[in-house]
Amino acid sequence: MAVAFQPQLTADGQSVASVEALLRWRLPDGSFISPESAVAYAEREGLIDVIGLYVLQQACTAARAWPGLVLAVNISPTHFAKPGFVDDVARVLDATWFPANRLEIEIVESAAFDDPDHASRQIERLHAIGARVAMDDFGTGYSSLSLLQRLPFDKVKIDKSFVDGIPATRSVAILHAMIALVRALGMKVTAEGVETVEQQRFLKAAGCHYLQGFLYARPLPAESIPAFLEKYKRPLR
Ligand code: C2E
Ligand code: MG
Ligand code: MG
Repeated sequence: MAVAFQPQLTADGQSVASVEALLRWRLPDGSFISPESAVAYAEREGLIDVIGLYVLQQACTAARAWPGLVLAVNISPTHFAKPGFVDDVARVLDATWFPANRLEIEIVESAAFDDPDHASRQIERLHAIGARVAMDDFGTGYSSLSLLQRLPFDKVKIDKSFVDGIPATRSVAILHAMIALVRALGMKVTAEGVETVEQQRFLKAAGCHYLQGFLYARPLPAESIPAFLEKYKRPLR
């Protein structure tokens, strides 16, 4: 099992703001299982906490060497819901000497849907230890506005499926509305799956703060990140 890192750039495409840790699970024949299948398998086998903490630990250890860069880590709904989850995160941060204010936990909407009060408390606990929380894949689940109203997310990541639709009129209308909504709530917005310069221009003009996608970089092994960072001036934080 390994972890790859995909950079997230500021919308002007000029600097690297963060990297997202992505699970890479290699089979003995050298092929990879998709992270979705790996996560589903781990959920079924009761291994999801162990894998989540493994990715967190590996990612924090690697990202310690990339000063100022925010590290985003995906956490499954099952793991996020556990009462001990935030304590687990705090332990990994202590063990790896990774500063909490550079950690961003990504959860999908379904992690908050069943029990928004509990999700809200988990987010508050993460804030209390200094970490941030992003809603991932926004627009693909229930897109419940009441969740956005109730939960103090720091960032919302708009799903690639909307970005793919640019410049179709309906996609553009939905993106404008989603970005304006998230910004009006005082949260940061990232667009995922940016592959073309046309998408980048539109998303920047529409008010996205950050962009992530193959236009800038595919998920990279940790060893390739320093050279990637060298190419960009990083923003002051
Ligand atoms: P995600 O968190 O939304 O991550 C973004 C996914 O989109 C990644 O796929 C990334 O490689 C892909 N991507 C980014 N930019 C582009 C682009 O421009 N074009 C295209 N075609 N794809 C792009 P990946 O690595 O296959 O991960 C898929 C999903 O698996 C993730 O979606 C996340 O939900 C889940 N996942 C990955 N690693 C972990 C993990 O460590 N823990 C948990 N719980 N879930 C994980
Ligand atoms: Mg993610
Ligand atoms: Mg996503």
